[in-house]
Amino acid sequence: MTTSADITTMTRDQLAADLRGELIGPSDPGYDAARAVYNGMIDRHPAAIARCRDVADIITCVRFGREHGIELAVRGGGHNAGGLGVADDALVIDLSLLRSTTVDPENRMVRADAGCTWGDVDHATGAFGMATPSGFLSSTGVAGLTLGGGIGYLTRRFGLTVDNLLSADVVLADGRLVTASWAAHSDLFWALRGGGGNFGIVASFTFRCHDIGEGGTVIAGPVFYDLDDVGEVMRWYRALIPTLPEELSGWIGLLTVPPAPPFPERLWGRKVCGIVWCYTGPHDRAEAMLEPIKTFGSPLLVGLQPMPFSVLQAAFDPLYPAGLQQYWRADFFTEISDAAIEVHRRHGRLLPTGLSTMHLYPIDGAAARVAGDATAFAYRDGGWAGIIVGVDPDPANAGLITKWTRDYWRELHPTSAGGAYVNFLMDEGQDRVKAAYRGNYDRLAQIKGRYDPGNVFHLNQNIRPPAHPDGSQPPR
Ligand SMILES: Cc1cc2nc3c(=O)[nH]c(=O)nc-3n(C[C@H](O)[C@H](O)[C@H](O)COP(=O)(O)OP(=O)(O)OC[C@H]3O[C@@H](n4cnc5c(N)ncnc54)[C@H](O)[C@@H]3O)c2cc1C
Repeated sequence: MTTSADITTMTRDQLAADLRGELIGPSDPGYDAARAVYNGMIDRHPAAIARCRDVADIITCVRFGREHGIELAVRGGGHNAGGLGVADDALVIDLSLLRSTTVDPENRMVRADAGCTWGDVDHATGAFGMATPSGFLSSTGVAGLTLGGGIGYLTRRFGLTVDNLLSADVVLADGRLVTASWAAHSDLFWALRGGGGNFGIVASFTFRCHDIGEGGTVIAGPVFYDLDDVGEVMRWYRALIPTLPEELSGWIGLLTVPPAPPFPERLWGRKVCGIVWCYTGPHDRAEAMLEPIKTFGSPLLVGLQPMPFSVLQAAFDPLYPAGLQQYWRADFFTEISDAAIEVHRRHGRLLPTGLSTMHLYPIDGAAARVAGDATAFAYRDGGWAGIIVGVDPDPANAGLITKWTRDYWRELHPTSAGGAYVNFLMDEGQDRVKAAYRGNYDRLAQIKGRYDPGNVFHLNQNIRPPAHPDGSQPPR
């Protein structure tokens, strides 16, 4: 592989001249800001960062990387916990300047460029009272989240983000641009819906949108319970969720109440079990629908209120700004077993810092009605995607949050379905990538062999193409 010295001295000027966007190298003043990603634990030094202005820039970078043997890292929102959008000595294809959106309200569709965050899309569609299913935060990148599957508040009602993907414009490893959809390159379209960044660089996505709430206003917010009640609350929640209408969803977690408004001062800093609910149906049915969840047990706080969907999506953004130390471990769960609840009860008490947390996100309803082999996203058994996340601003606490996360995960993992959501993985090895895809892995590998036989796009949760007939293996 070419080193960063090679790219700066021999070829940088050539690439810079071919780009509309800026090329930032190690000696440029903006280099440190440009190489930083969301997770403050990641400290990598790419050979250069190409801030692409258009699809032609993406194509130029792909061809350049191949010609000069330089590894390519692709950055959408830069949010990935494992820092997959940046790599040492690589050329980073940074899409963050490509942020336009176009809404077609008549046909209920939105087209989003690959550098958009979900905040950009929610803003665009919210103006029409619509949304497309995304996640639980607005600062996450559209590209990475979509390509891994996309789990969020609207999953129960409208499916995963990939279940609402209509088409994607993709720059392939050989530099060609194709549009993948049901009608064209349907194998590629299947693989893009969960297979991550393995198959090409998506320049833009087109999604189906849905009317939500009333004019885009939903009823949402948290309900908190004392940590001593975690067993009772989790047993009630696991039985309740499958019985609820799909307009109502809620993820459950263990967290520390942030020491700031709008939370009441009496709860600041208290460790709690919380459920964040979102009701997207007609408001005249809301009271009846929400009554059981407001009155169960002995809640410390019932914070449900009407709000635009975009406000709900952005509610946790200020708590989790870019640059925090983050250490993640994840799994899928088909049930929240009594054994799992006992593990949650114990490790919830040990939350090591105010921002460290555990979440369980339901993947049922509309998402579970899609067959496990209909898209690359395999875990559609009506369970939950779980994450344990150690978080703190201070790098000195990196060891503490890492240890808590690993200890918790080690005890919880035996209660899981085996694999984890690919977008919640850090660098955990090939077996974990395979487990994320269950029986879909081999089909993904075949499609990888068709579209990227040389594994040009390998700085991701890598699906390896089949070995070349001569026995040689592509990189990594
Ligand atoms: C705080 C936080 C909250 C999250 N919440 C949710 C959630 O609610 N729901 C959910 O489903 N996920 C969630 N995630 C996980 C999220 O989906 C992944 O981190 C995802 O990778 C982020 O996408 P990105 O574009 O920001 O990432 P990046 O770091 O830019 O990229 C991640 C990966 O995607 C590839 N990639 C990026 N753009 C492209 C492209 N245009 N074409 C091809 N490959 C590309 C990259 O090469 C890399 O491998 C969350 C993550 C964080 C850190």
